[in-house]
Amino acid sequence: MTPTSPLAEATRTDPAGTRPENADLGLEWVEGFAALGPRFFTELRPTPLSSPTPPYWVGHSDQVARELGLPEDWRSDALLEALSGNVPLAGARPLASVYSGHQFGVWAGQLGDGRAILLGETAGGLEIQLKGAGRTPYSRMGDGRAVLRSSIREFLCSEAMHGLGIPTTRALCVTGSDARVRREEIETAAVVTRVAPSFIRFGHFEHFAANQQHAELRALADYVIDRYYPACRHTERFGGNPYAALLEAVAERTATLLAHWQAVGFCHGVMNTDNMSILGLTIDYGPFQFLDGFDPRHICNHSDTGGRYAFNQQPNVAYWNLFCLGQALLPLIEDQELALAALEPYKSAFPNAFENRMRAKLGLADAADGDRQLIEDALKLLAAEKTDYTIFWRRLAQYRADGNIEPVRELFIDRAGFDAWLLSFLERHNQIPREQAAELMLRSNPKYVLRNHLGQQAIEAAGRKDFSGVATLLGLLESPFEEHPGADAYAGFPPDWASTIEISCSS
Ligand code: AMP
Ligand code: MG
Repeated sequence: MTPTSPLAEATRTDPAGTRPENADLGLEWVEGFAALGPRFFTELRPTPLSSPTPPYWVGHSDQVARELGLPEDWRSDALLEALSGNVPLAGARPLASVYSGHQFGVWAGQLGDGRAILLGETAGGLEIQLKGAGRTPYSRMGDGRAVLRSSIREFLCSEAMHGLGIPTTRALCVTGSDARVRREEIETAAVVTRVAPSFIRFGHFEHFAANQQHAELRALADYVIDRYYPACRHTERFGGNPYAALLEAVAERTATLLAHWQAVGFCHGVMNTDNMSILGLTIDYGPFQFLDGFDPRHICNHSDTGGRYAFNQQPNVAYWNLFCLGQALLPLIEDQELALAALEPYKSAFPNAFENRMRAKLGLADAADGDRQLIEDALKLLAAEKTDYTIFWRRLAQYRADGNIEPVRELFIDRAGFDAWLLSFLERHNQIPREQAAELMLRSNPKYVLRNHLGQQAIEAAGRKDFSGVATLLGLLESPFEEHPGADAYAGFPPDWASTIEISCSS
């Protein structure tokens, strides 16, 4: 985070006087999160961007638009202004919510939506949030803005994760502007319109627990249970304690999420408790990275010098974060043993879910003894030579489809090591019809992931106001298991310069 830039909040002008007064999504809104009352948020308006020139569309997802129920021609000029925070959106009741959290293992106290503004919830049950729409009471030293590069990364990765079948917040669009913001250097401001059933984080619970606001804590937990985990209300587990059941349900969803991340090679980069979704969604895309070469100890966040959030630490960090959530819920659960019992299933849910995902990558529809070994051996093989993770799996899938092993074998210097593993892989595949295995593998091993260098190329072009790279990537990442003939360049090895890309928390 950087101190507020004097450039960022300069008065915005509208010399031509052409800006619309407001915009209308044409959607029905419901009260949603706002029903919790003023101790949970501050109502406020987005701050218009300080640029004399109008904003522009950088990227948009018609898929998300359809899910919201927007019409085909939803991208009006008025909406462009509203989603950039320049004019109000009819029916919206914008607010910034308060939360706290543990950052890098240390209690950070109050944080909150410092640059995200919740516009409200649609009758379809989706919340719409603007990220980068100006300062809020929770901005602390920040300017409330988001830069173009990180906004494009968040937009593309949200949709990429969805395309991969991984739970995530979504992104309707990125709007760009010529408004300047100061980071390490001067950049331009952008706004991401994010969409999710809820943006509630572990940190929301930690906030009210830390402040001894137990009535608010209960109201929040009841809201989350009634809206998103209704089965917890009628649980027979944990002596009928709905809050313990909630903790267990969140632990299970988090286990599933982490299994997805580890299987696809996704490194989040900033797994602070305020970046953990109560719905088990991937949230707050910052210095994330899809692994290129398989290095279990990879650290994608340049600011994470200690490697707390290294790739192979993620499942344990998630458990640590769940433990914080458990502590926050303790005043409601009332019994420490019960809280611990509710967290316990994570320890088996994660490895089971991970094994299931890896088994699918190996083309194995059913479990058998020895699968864990086969998986471990494959990962050891990849780690030994830092073999490209995505390419290995896709080529292995392709091999099951066409019978040509050479493209896989040539990935390894230690051919004997690979051949030995291949033997046990083929032994396991003995009884499985080839076509069936190939089909499962091709839909479990993506051809396209949002590698850092691909995002970087799209970002650099977007800086020159060429947004075609963003659209092209989106098209591929929305269906990453499809072949997309002609797009092989996006599925290749990263160039040498990819390893020099440095991505930190500053965004
Ligand atoms: P993050 O690491 O992006 O999850 O952010 C951690 C906290 O810092 C959250 O409370 C954010 O809202 C806040 N924050 C990050 N960047 C900014 C910014 N440019 N302006 C205001 N608040 C920010
Ligand atoms: Mg965050």
